[in-house]
Amino acid sequence: GSGAGKAPEDNGDAMSGNPYAELVSRLRAAWLSGKTRPMEYRLAQLEGLGRFLDEKKQDILEATTADMRKATQLDSAFIRKDPYGVVLIIGPWNYPINLLLVPLIGAIAAGNCVVMKPSEITRNVERLVAEMLPRYLDEDCFAVVTAGVEETTRLLENKFDYIFFTGSPSVGRIVMTAAAKHLTPVTLELGGKNPCYVCDSCNVQNTARRVAWGRFFNAGQTCVAPDYVLCSAEMQEKLLPALREAITEFYGPNPRESPDFGRIVGDRQFQRVQALLHSGHTAIGGQTDAEERYIAPTVLVEVQQDDPIMQEEIFGPILPILTVASVDDAIAFINARERPLVLYVFSSRKEVMKRVLERTSSGGFCANDTIMHMTIPSLPFGGIGMPIPRNGVLREPPQPAEPSTGRVLPGPGGILPRTLPALPSPTAPYPQ
Ligand code: NAD
Repeated sequence: GSGAGKAPEDNGDAMSGNPYAELVSRLRAAWLSGKTRPMEYRLAQLEGLGRFLDEKKQDILEATTADMRKATQLDSAFIRKDPYGVVLIIGPWNYPINLLLVPLIGAIAAGNCVVMKPSEITRNVERLVAEMLPRYLDEDCFAVVTAGVEETTRLLENKFDYIFFTGSPSVGRIVMTAAAKHLTPVTLELGGKNPCYVCDSCNVQNTARRVAWGRFFNAGQTCVAPDYVLCSAEMQEKLLPALREAITEFYGPNPRESPDFGRIVGDRQFQRVQALLHSGHTAIGGQTDAEERYIAPTVLVEVQQDDPIMQEEIFGPILPILTVASVDDAIAFINARERPLVLYVFSSRKEVMKRVLERTSSGGFCANDTIMHMTIPSLPFGGIGMPIPRNGVLREPPQPAEPSTGRVLPGPGGILPRTLPALPSPTAPYPQ
């Protein structure tokens, strides 16, 4: 049956008429209220569960015997770590070496065979990896496939034992659908919009430097970049001159001439990011040069939440600032959207930090800095899914705007011909 109460919008339109929609909405509203988080609450619920097992023990035994004549005895248990088997790693273009090789290290260390599929967009790195890397690895177990969309679609028809994908959420959905046909487990490292809440109590200069560094590093093409700033109108006034100062300090008076400021990866990506400059009002930067695929470090103000720049991951050197009235406003803004890969908060007040941390949900959380949490090897890294589709409707993956740029190098199935010297076979064929 379904519960009482009004269905919140996020489980709305697409599910109207579904008999369980109201129930799921009621539980989602309870989740968003933060009720399930305090330790005492969780203990009380577990104690309730324990009482159920104690008080109804006889009924449970009778019911399981009636159903299946079930009897259990205590066994000893242990965990044995096994490699998956044949693994597929699909990489994006923004850190094309790192995001292909870091998963590869884990896969090799565990004892898997690996097919690597670098991004076709960064074609120089793709070629380098395809031509050179196999010379350093056992060709029986490791292969590089160079493929665009069409060829990757064919590659994904094959059964793999694990797929590690890094890229956009829309392609992640395609990869997961292909994996589901074979019940292949996946890791999807995706992107999204990472909010950055700047509290009135923060150190303005430090905040501006750290936000500017995180946003404009790699010309904004970083999955963990702060995507937009939420702050009060008063803080925005203080932040703007500090951001301008930080940008000049990092990239000089003309960032186009700076050896430290990057370019957008391709023409199609340039057109997409450039179009986002029309949201709000340009407070800093805004200059572009299509030939060089240059977009100046830019800060936009007076941005509204339904402006185009707030509908997709920016993935370029543009920082929109949206004003909010309070920390609770910022929390509500964040919770009305997809769960971010990382959430940034700048504040000198512990209670503000704690409030945001306790009332939001994100893959990572980083206080008073940007990106640096990724550099701490003892911390895990990852996102936590996108369980609140906007307007209750999943977005369709965009259709490719132009034919696939993928090329298949000669050789069976797009796999490079192995005329290169092979490494000696590993002595132990299977890890002990
Ligand atoms: P993308 O999804 O367009 O491409 C990623 C890979 O998928 C590429 O190798 C590409 O060839 C392949 N691909 C593209 N379309 C496909 C299709 N229809 N079928 C099968 N394969 C297809 O992503 P991108 O533009 O290369 O990278 C940018 C995205 O990656 C951003 O969203 C960014 O946030 C995200 N990202 C996430 C992380 C993370 O660790 N979470 C790290 C870096 C980048």
